[in-house]
Amino acid sequence: MDNSMIYRRLGDSGIEVSALSFGTMRWANEEQCHQIINRGLDRGMNYIDTSTGYLDGKSQQWVADAIRDRRDEALLSSKSFWAKANPADTVRRRIDETLDKLQLDYFDLYQLWGLDTVETVETALEKGGFIEGIRKAQDDGVIKLGVGFTFHGSPEAFRAAINSGEFLCATISYNLGSRKEESQIRYAAENGVGVIIMNPLGGGPLAKHDDKKLAFLRHRGAGPSYGALRFLLADEQISTSLIGCATVEELEEDLRAVERSEELTEDFRRSLIERMEDDGISGEGLCTGCAYCHDCPNDFDPSAFMEMMRDFSIYAGEEAHLIEWLRARYAEEDKRLEDELEKCIECGQCEEQCPQHLPIVEAIRGVKDTLGR
Ligand code: SF4
Ligand code: SF4
Repeated sequence: MDNSMIYRRLGDSGIEVSALSFGTMRWANEEQCHQIINRGLDRGMNYIDTSTGYLDGKSQQWVADAIRDRRDEALLSSKSFWAKANPADTVRRRIDETLDKLQLDYFDLYQLWGLDTVETVETALEKGGFIEGIRKAQDDGVIKLGVGFTFHGSPEAFRAAINSGEFLCATISYNLGSRKEESQIRYAAENGVGVIIMNPLGGGPLAKHDDKKLAFLRHRGAGPSYGALRFLLADEQISTSLIGCATVEELEEDLRAVERSEELTEDFRRSLIERMEDDGISGEGLCTGCAYCHDCPNDFDPSAFMEMMRDFSIYAGEEAHLIEWLRARYAEEDKRLEDELEKCIECGQCEEQCPQHLPIVEAIRGVKDTLGR
């Protein structure tokens, strides 16, 4: 069986990337990171998305050490939150500091994170701003290929960034269970900007082995990640998807998705969407379990709550009852649903931190209403 890597153009840049590439947030440990990187490079994976912040900075160092002797086989990307790295001199200095720490000579790409509004796009682009710093870094040879952005904001901000003509790729959260960024993918691709997918498995739920509902995505012992990744591989407008594996075994399983590439057609892709919709999974935003919202001033854990709500919408059978589902899961942690919900005063702080812009307060209120609280 042919299980060769699939390659795609990164927009109009002329850069070829493997259709499955490395996410770097979820390594189990340094040894697994090194093994995964080497195994993935052997299998033809060539793009690595890193950040100074993942795993408290350890992830990027582990990756740098893992690729040190194979540097020319990998397209390495780093990123900065634009507001902390603006203006030009700051981001330029940051790039040098990061490279010094990692003992590397250059990054291939650099991503700008946090372009949520049209105003932030304009500020990053203005004279003396972030983009000018990246161009200086390119002139100095420490960024080889160019700049992209990772996106969690409004469609208007996305279009403003694409229309600027400054970015050669956009990293977007998208997967079979959560397709609300579909129009952003089409817009980027039609304008020659490469599309990189983050959260290809919805932050985990599309990789769960113990569910029954997503059985149609499985293949010979593989979990539903098999079908979920093939859904993305079948989309010609997606350049690459970042798979964030914790272990080599997970990587091997995910890489099975590239087999039988001739079956990865638009009809196949659409058939999976129809099947999900038949099962009542709409494709609206789903919690990715990122936990960015977990810092609640009143000691409620909105991240755990939203993950339970997400799992209910994906996995619960038709006969399941939401309140019983939630009660059972809180009881597993020796907590009581009603007591936990009581802590939330609906201040909205968690929503401001949610990169998926999920209506957390509305979800909490809905359950409280059902309980008569
Ligand atoms: S709305 Fe406020 S109180 Fe409620 S979970 Fe979010 S941060 Fe906590
Ligand atoms: S920030 Fe949003 S996506 Fe992340 S855990 Fe919280 S609700 Fe889920």
